[in-house]
Amino acid sequence: MVQDSKRSRPNILVTGTPGTGKTTTSTALAESTQLRHINIGELVREKNLHDGWDDELECHVINEDLVCDELEDIMEQGGNIVDYHGCDFFPERWFDRVVVLQTENSVLYDRLTKRGYTGAKLTNNIECEIFQVLLEEAKESYPEDIVLALKSDTIEDITRNIAILTDWVRNWQPRS
Ligand code: ADP
Ligand code: MN
Repeated sequence: MVQDSKRSRPNILVTGTPGTGKTTTSTALAESTQLRHINIGELVREKNLHDGWDDELECHVINEDLVCDELEDIMEQGGNIVDYHGCDFFPERWFDRVVVLQTENSVLYDRLTKRGYTGAKLTNNIECEIFQVLLEEAKESYPEDIVLALKSDTIEDITRNIAILTDWVRNWQPRS
């Protein structure tokens, strides 16, 4: 089943390499649509949905099963914007739209440096963006017609992306 007809409002996944603007975009979109913003990184920390800390990657080892169990009921209700730099472990049926944000390398490099990323963490993320890892992951995990790649280099891009996505949410109708 591609879409769960029980929900009256859509679920959107906002994904992309760290620094591409997922949280900024999701926050603004939640405001303009009244959908609920779920930041998976924060949820994992708050509810301890992880298996400890990865010293090499400098991040929590997310427990994907715990995250999916935690979200099942709320996703079934619909009306959620899920914000995470991964997308292959969520059930396909959860999402009506999968947005992949993309940022030009030099712009992303500056954003991640400002965030304090250095060494392997910095290069891994830049390579992730160069090789379009998240776009490929999204295309492999969801029907291609619901995957939408959007450029996120400038504030104008954010404004335009929010307008596009807000329109889409307004026009969305549950499949009967
Ligand atoms: P993510 O959640 O994908 O890691 P954030 O939304 O936290 O990314 O954005 C990272 C930083 O880059 C923030 O300081 C944000 O203001 C900035 N930023 C993100 N997207 C854009 C954009 N399209 N134009 C300008 N600045 C942006
Ligand atoms: Mn974020």
